[in-house]
Amino acid sequence: MENLSIQGQVLTPQSGDAYTTALRRNSDLSVLPAKYIVQPVLYEDIPPVIACATSQSPPLEIAVKGGGAHSATWASSNGGVVIDLSKLNKVTLAADKQSITVQGGAYWGDVYEVTSKEKVDVVGSPLWFVGVGGYTLGGGHGPLSGEHGLAVDNLLSATIVLADGRIVKTSSDEEPDLFWAIRGGGGQFGIAVDFTFKVYPYAGPIGAGMMAYPGSEIAQVLKIITDWKKTQTPTERFTMNFSRPAPHFKPTIVILPTVLHDQDGSRTQKILAPFREGAVKPVLDKVGLVPDMLTVSHAADAAIAAAPRSLVIRGTLISDFFPELLLGVYEKWLAFTESNEDVRASAVLFDLTSPHKLAEIGSADTPLKNREPNYWMAVQGRSKTDASVEAAREFTADIVSFVREKNAELSGQDLGWWLTLCQGNEKPEDVFGTNLPRLRELKTKYDPKKVWSKGFVIEPLV
Ligand SMILES: Cc1cc2nc3c(=O)[nH]c(=O)nc-3n(C[C@H](O)[C@H](O)[C@H](O)COP(=O)(O)OP(=O)(O)OC[C@H]3O[C@@H](n4cnc5c(N)ncnc54)[C@H](O)[C@@H]3O)c2cc1C
Repeated sequence: MENLSIQGQVLTPQSGDAYTTALRRNSDLSVLPAKYIVQPVLYEDIPPVIACATSQSPPLEIAVKGGGAHSATWASSNGGVVIDLSKLNKVTLAADKQSITVQGGAYWGDVYEVTSKEKVDVVGSPLWFVGVGGYTLGGGHGPLSGEHGLAVDNLLSATIVLADGRIVKTSSDEEPDLFWAIRGGGGQFGIAVDFTFKVYPYAGPIGAGMMAYPGSEIAQVLKIITDWKKTQTPTERFTMNFSRPAPHFKPTIVILPTVLHDQDGSRTQKILAPFREGAVKPVLDKVGLVPDMLTVSHAADAAIAAAPRSLVIRGTLISDFFPELLLGVYEKWLAFTESNEDVRASAVLFDLTSPHKLAEIGSADTPLKNREPNYWMAVQGRSKTDASVEAAREFTADIVSFVREKNAELSGQDLGWWLTLCQGNEKPEDVFGTNLPRLRELKTKYDPKKVWSKGFVIEPLV
């Protein structure tokens, strides 16, 4: 591998800081000691790496790293080669400002640097450090999804390096099967070296910030949210978080609003009025107008920097904001974070983006099986010490199982799991439903030998 004639760098444990830095992931639990880390700078650097790894006996495992945000070890390898796309992070807005091409190793922050300057917008992550690659291939929910759907619904084309080394363009006209598979099938069909997305008019100014209520007021807060939801428009979204913020670490309900296209802040004020003047008043109220998604995407930086770096995330979908389900999760979270100081930074998030736009796409039109209106939730198990990592893992698994079962009981729909927030040990039929057979056929067509063996693995047909 060290002797490959490519323009990018090949790092090994002997490369010192450059190697150690390249191993870093958003969660310390996602780090594995790779034998080689290759950082391509050209798309043509990648096929020789694949050829070299697959020609060894036994073949070297290949992992692909986009932004490194996923909390499993999908973008890392123990003793294999990591194709680290971090140097492929260019973002190019088309001259007509109708589309934007983003290389597969960019962070959403790289995209927002450009969209902020050019006063345009694109469906992307609420947090700057999430990678465009993994996020998009898993579907991609974001603050603009209420208006414009998921990231994959806004994907116009992509360039993929296939397992056999070919570099192909894919869109609804070129390699359409591949285009279908990458819009929610994960990194199982090739390396996405670039994506071209639809661009929208500027979504700013944006009403954004934070309101917090004591956890003891959960029932009242849920009532305010449930009432607000009846009049929700596609341009307004809340996330509701259960967390224990420093310095008091008391159970707290943190509400993060995002109100798009609010020229003078008056719409944000109107929407928030019941949250301020209802039966319960916030103990913290810091909401204002910010210019754009770049600013929104940095809002949580300080809190995240202070949090323990051992993180495991799981999540799933819910059909509605059922108070009984939310209260059940709250009670479980409260008991867990009270039981052990090591894990008190563990948190739960419910995303309340208007779900109707995502339901305009059919459930067989992309690999994502759930296209009836739904919301997503995530549970972050964080641990200060190695001793409590297992407890944090069990907690995340317990919460998502509870949510899935309770949602099925209350809605009559079993939504299974959402790929992006899986850990890899879920049943594939629970993730892809009736889309699984087509995904398996396409895996057989594009990667019969499972060169892409990391991530949520789809088995080729035998
Ligand atoms: C704090 C936090 C908040 C999040 N919020 C949201 C949210 O609001 N909405 C949402 O939809 N998701 C959200 N996610 C989930 C996130 O989208 C996934 O974890 C996603 O996989 C991260 O992408 P990445 O490129 O950073 O990941 P990585 O860890 O680099 O990769 C994850 C997987 O994708 C593959 N992959 C990455 N890039 C490529 C590529 N270019 N080509 C082929 N395969 C690739 C990797 O091989 C790996 O299997 C959040 C995650 C975190 C940690």
